[in-house]
Amino acid sequence: MSTDERRVEVHPGCEAVVDFDPSLTFECIEECTWCCTHGVLLYEPDFFELAKHADLNEATTTFRGENFVKREQKNRAEHVNEEGQACFFLRDDGLCELHLEHDWKPARCSVFPLQVTVEDGEIHVSVRESAHEHCEGLDVSERKVIDNLDAFLPQVLWELDDPDTLKEL
Ligand code: SF4
Ligand code: SF4
Repeated sequence: MSTDERRVEVHPGCEAVVDFDPSLTFECIEECTWCCTHGVLLYEPDFFELAKHADLNEATTTFRGENFVKREQKNRAEHVNEEGQACFFLRDDGLCELHLEHDWKPARCSVFPLQVTVEDGEIHVSVRESAHEHCEGLDVSERKVIDNLDAFLPQVLWELDDPDTLKEL
C-alpha cells in the first residue's frame, strides 16, 4: 500500500482502500446535475428494484451485457450535457424523479463523483477523473469524504461479483 492510501471500514466487515487525498471534502450542488447526464449502470439488485418503479423497456437499455438507465435527448437547455442528453429520470427542474417519488435511486448514483475499482480482490475508491473538471461539489464544504464513505458506497457493492463503476454506456 502506498503512503496516500487508507483502508477504511465503510460498513461492518466491508473495507475499502481509499486512493484519494483524505482531506477531500464534498457537498452536492443540486443545480449542477452533471452526474445525471450519464447513463447509469444498474447492478442486478438495482435492476429488480427499478422494475417496481418504472417500465424497464422504456427506461433501460443493455450494452455489452450490462443494464443501464437510458440516457435520452431532452428538449431543454438546462440539466443536459453538450449533446442535449441526460438520464431518463432527470426532470426538467434538475431533480431525480426516482429519488423524489420513491425515495430511492440506483446504487451507482450514490457513488458519484467517486469511482470504485477492484484491485487484488479489494475495493478501491478514488475520485472519477472527469469529476475534477465537472463536479461542482468537490472541496467546497467542510464535509470530509473519507468520514462519509457509507453515503457514497452502498453495502451492495461488497455483495457483487464485479462492483467496478467505470463501465459506461
Ligand atoms: S456532479 Fe457532483 S455536484 Fe454535480 S450533481 Fe453530481 S455529485 Fe452533485
Ligand atoms: S437515476 Fe436519478 S440520480 Fe441517478 S442519474 Fe438518473 S436522475 Fe440522476
